[in-house]
Amino acid sequence: MASHIPELPESYAPRTDSVFSDQSGFYSLDSSVPGLSKVILNKLNMKDYGDYRAAIEGKAKGISFRNYKEMFQKMEETFMFCAGCSKLPQHLTQGQILKRCVKCMNVYYCTKDCQRKDWPQHKKVCKTLRLVAIDRLVEWLMFTGDLPFPTEKWSKSAAEVKKWDDWLSMQGDLTPHLDAILSGANTSILWKNASRPRPEDNDLRQSLWRIQSEFLSRVLSVGMAIQHFDLNPYAKPLTIHLVGASHNETMGARLTDYDELNYMFPAHMGIQVVMVGPEVVDGPIMRPPLRAFGPRQRVFISAYKGLYHQFWEDVMENEEAAKPDLVVGFHPGFHANQGLVEGWLPTLLLLRDYNIPSFFTMYSELELKYSLQILLELEMHIRDSGPNPFSSQKPEQVQACPNKTPVFCNSHYVSFQGLLPREAFVEPGPDN
Ligand SMILES: [Zn+2]
Ligand SMILES: [Zn+2]
Repeated sequence: MASHIPELPESYAPRTDSVFSDQSGFYSLDSSVPGLSKVILNKLNMKDYGDYRAAIEGKAKGISFRNYKEMFQKMEETFMFCAGCSKLPQHLTQGQILKRCVKCMNVYYCTKDCQRKDWPQHKKVCKTLRLVAIDRLVEWLMFTGDLPFPTEKWSKSAAEVKKWDDWLSMQGDLTPHLDAILSGANTSILWKNASRPRPEDNDLRQSLWRIQSEFLSRVLSVGMAIQHFDLNPYAKPLTIHLVGASHNETMGARLTDYDELNYMFPAHMGIQVVMVGPEVVDGPIMRPPLRAFGPRQRVFISAYKGLYHQFWEDVMENEEAAKPDLVVGFHPGFHANQGLVEGWLPTLLLLRDYNIPSFFTMYSELELKYSLQILLELEMHIRDSGPNPFSSQKPEQVQACPNKTPVFCNSHYVSFQGLLPREAFVEPGPDN
């Protein structure tokens, strides 16, 4: 297995904070609602972004609330600003209070007037934001371990499962799983303490499914990428690197999180998933990757905190880990600003120059379009791109701009490998 590793592309060392997609997203809240990032820190009893990170990584005493009621209340308060004029509670005149839209129970207004003026925009998303407001509470059940619920063995081959309906048809009736969660102790705790009435059971069942779909969307997208590149998990063990792994995938991650791949490729030769990123959260998955062969018919997850090219320099070059057969990235966000492109550049060049099959997902068609432009500028050989049939079903609200059309995790994808062949150079831009 000891093979020659070509020289790394020239290292680019960005300031570490410039590559935290999360930090950049966090402070960009303020461009829509000035001071919102401060409000969030105050509500969560934190003094700066460092505290926030540490709490998310489970390192600090961090978010310490007296009780669940206070926790849910403070979280809700981070959404409290006028959706019309962006006023925060501390900027209201005396006697004024922010009132919640009664239909979605998601957005707030300082006056009737602001609400009336905002309605033409808000009415387009009010229905979806109602679901988002339920999901952001129900999501807590991921941390309590009630979600994800267990899934069934596959009765179809991976190639036959092309979309959610195909997957769902193998699961039978989900209701018993969902109802068990609804009648559980944590669901009662949640609605006893949330600052709103408990929604109808049917709304809650759908919310549970949406949250589970986001979790499964990642595994199924990895499985789809394996098939896209014709990798054969029955012929040899596969190593998959998840680059730019963030706290979304790694906070509270369990060793079993990618076990759906065992159903997708029964009796495979062993699949190892290595999560790599500066935002990787400490936990049970934080262990060294395997050098070569994974345990057969099992998925082995490990994690490394750092930039991907550092991982190559520190681990791969010392032959302490198997080379990747596939690299997957969820929402790299490198289209968002120059700092993030620069942060991703060494990784993208490394993927290109080592000719590694790569598969990235995006939140929207627009993000895909911008990402394609960046990849084409780097002369990447794009293999395929488009809507992801295993997109998450859970809408994501842009916190600082609630009337923006909600997006979905992994809604689009692009796959690429190596350098664009010279003769195939074309004008950049997708063909739409
Ligand atoms: Zn207002
Ligand atoms: Zn509304």
